[in-house]
Amino acid sequence: MADPTVALQEILGPKGWLTGVDALPYQRDWLDRYGVAPLGVARPASTAEVAAVVTACSEAGLAVVPQGGNTGLCGGAVAGQPNAVIVSLSRMTAIGKPDADSGSILVEAGVVLAALHEALEPHGLMFPMHLGAEGSARIGGLIGTNAGGSQAFRYGMMQDLVLGLEVVTPDGAVWDGLRAVQKDNAGYQLRKLFCGAEGTLGIVTRAVLRLYPTPRQQASALLVMADFAAAVSFGAFLRAEAGEFLSGLEFFSDIGLTLALKHLPDLAYQLDTRGDVYLLVELASGSTRIPLDEILSSALEWGMEQGHVIDGAVATSGAQRAQFWRLREEQPEGQRLEGAQLKHDISVPPGAIASFIEAGAGLCGDILPGVRINPFGHLGDGNIHYNLSPPEGRTDFEGKAAEFAAALAALATKIGGSFAAEHGLGRAKIAMAEQNRSFVERDLMARLKQALDPLRTMNPGVLVQTAQ
Ligand SMILES: Cc1cc2nc3c(=O)[nH]c(=O)nc-3n(C[C@H](O)[C@H](O)[C@H](O)COP(=O)(O)OP(=O)(O)OC[C@H]3O[C@@H](n4cnc5c(N)ncnc54)[C@H](O)[C@@H]3O)c2cc1C
Repeated sequence: MADPTVALQEILGPKGWLTGVDALPYQRDWLDRYGVAPLGVARPASTAEVAAVVTACSEAGLAVVPQGGNTGLCGGAVAGQPNAVIVSLSRMTAIGKPDADSGSILVEAGVVLAALHEALEPHGLMFPMHLGAEGSARIGGLIGTNAGGSQAFRYGMMQDLVLGLEVVTPDGAVWDGLRAVQKDNAGYQLRKLFCGAEGTLGIVTRAVLRLYPTPRQQASALLVMADFAAAVSFGAFLRAEAGEFLSGLEFFSDIGLTLALKHLPDLAYQLDTRGDVYLLVELASGSTRIPLDEILSSALEWGMEQGHVIDGAVATSGAQRAQFWRLREEQPEGQRLEGAQLKHDISVPPGAIASFIEAGAGLCGDILPGVRINPFGHLGDGNIHYNLSPPEGRTDFEGKAAEFAAALAALATKIGGSFAAEHGLGRAKIAMAEQNRSFVERDLMARLKQALDPLRTMNPGVLVQTAQ
């Protein structure tokens, strides 16, 4: 039988086909938990090349693994078997001219999120997706995971920000759905189907994204809250009081703050008081006539009267605002530098955040007394990164990982939440889906996969069970 890599080299040329040491940087996932050596890494430069690669792989029975920035946290962008080709979109980085009248832009799937933000800046437009990995994560990967981030509660997740898509299907056909309209009910919502499909139904090659005017005014505050219940009540009040101006509602715990300050010496905490939990609140408006400072100050007054807020500071400069955000954004890094950690990406109805955190702490404490709970995340949409560090002075808690994950997933499911909020299932959480989702739900997904990828060459072992 002919060597299939010869055909791939012919399609891609020397720059587009990497093997051996050149392929190493693509091999392991961000957390270094998943990834075997693939047959090679294809780096196509156009949709036509992606289609040709997918066709050649399909004919040769090779697995195809789409990869963006490889910052996914569930092991979905790396090979699970040696006869796989990683298709990196990293050479497809064209950014079109923003259409200010329609509020949209056409981009290739390999565009890095931070590069898109930068390109939009001079136009007074923004793409409202922000996350800690934005310097590496690419548009195709963000679509593949249906990413959320810190503004999802106001602007939605990727599926709400994608107007149109171009996708190479598992048999190598190209679906051109690059329409720049929000309303398009001509049949099933195909564009949404590919959002969160984790590369199991096709490869996104281009997208039309929704843009918003950059806010001309922002008011931000860092608050020390009495406890998690107070943070939840105050969050609900802010959603009513500040309405559509509320653009950030993030939380972190004192354990997380302590770790961040310990390991990142240039971080500054400028308030006099410490508490169990902190809120980062931000209001934003495109109009300079809205009295955001007044709205924020009166909300803080109410919070203090109620005993929810015990201390706080309103940012008086852009630099101070940036410092507040860094305290929140460095939560993962502070914990990583502390050493061993376990991550859980949970969402619950926002009103249940405090009770989930408390009940989860009880469950985790029963599994391993002294385990440190470091919950942080997006209060506005109930997304808790329920991360754990081992008891002080210990490092050996990875053996309990499955027990912690199962207990927290079952708890989230019981109260109507999700064990996979914004990171997807990847390879890491398929077993959890088996345990926590109904047969009907899993069967619908398996049938979708079977219909669109009958040869099961697109990212096998990710999102759905390999053998159904
Ligand atoms: C420090 C840090 C902070 C993070 N914060 C957040 C956060 O706040 N919110 C959040 O949602 N996520 C967050 N993440 C997770 C991660 O950044 C997101 O999941 C992001 O969307 C992944 O993008 P990527 O380009 O790195 O995708 P990859 O990791 O390369 O791929 C992710 C998945 O998408 C598939 N895929 C990649 N490209 C394509 C394509 N072109 N077509 C089809 N499928 C494709 C892959 O096969 C894989 O299954 C964070 C990660 C880190 C490391």
